Amino acid sequence: MKITGECFCGEIKYEVNGELRDARSCHCSRCRKAFSSQASAYALVKPQDFKWLSGEKLLTSFVSQHGFGLQFCRKCGSTLCGIYNGAIHGVTLGCVNGDPKIELGRHIYVGSKANWEVIPEGVPQYQGGVPGNA
Ligand SMILES: [Zn+2]
Ligand SMILES: [Zn+2]
Repeated sequence: MKITGECFCGEIKYEVNGELRDARSCHCSRCRKAFSSQASAYALVKPQDFKWLSGEKLLTSFVSQHGFGLQFCRKCGSTLCGIYNGAIHGVTLGCVNGDPKIELGRHIYVGSKANWEVIPEGVPQYQGGVPGNA
């Protein structure tokens, strides 16, 4: 399947020829800052399925000391994707257009969620990460 995504100003666009996998939402304090939100909303993508269509020159990266980073639009500030050791790792679900036919499968680090956030009942929740998963 073909999935497209773009930032808020629309200058940066990408396409995924394949599936998004393992959609998750992390409620830790780091993800709250990185996503400027109550949690992250993120899914994995295979590097060979992913391609930038436009605006790649506007991408700015913030890379942590562990080699994992996020890339965002210098013009509008949308965070578009995650990178690991320089390669695309996943996409932020907020920048995906339309319906990528995937749902958030798990909510992780709910043990450190913000006090102001109310997580709905019935969603799969984990106090920490999920063992064996990146
Ligand atoms: Zn933008
Ligand atoms: Zn997190």
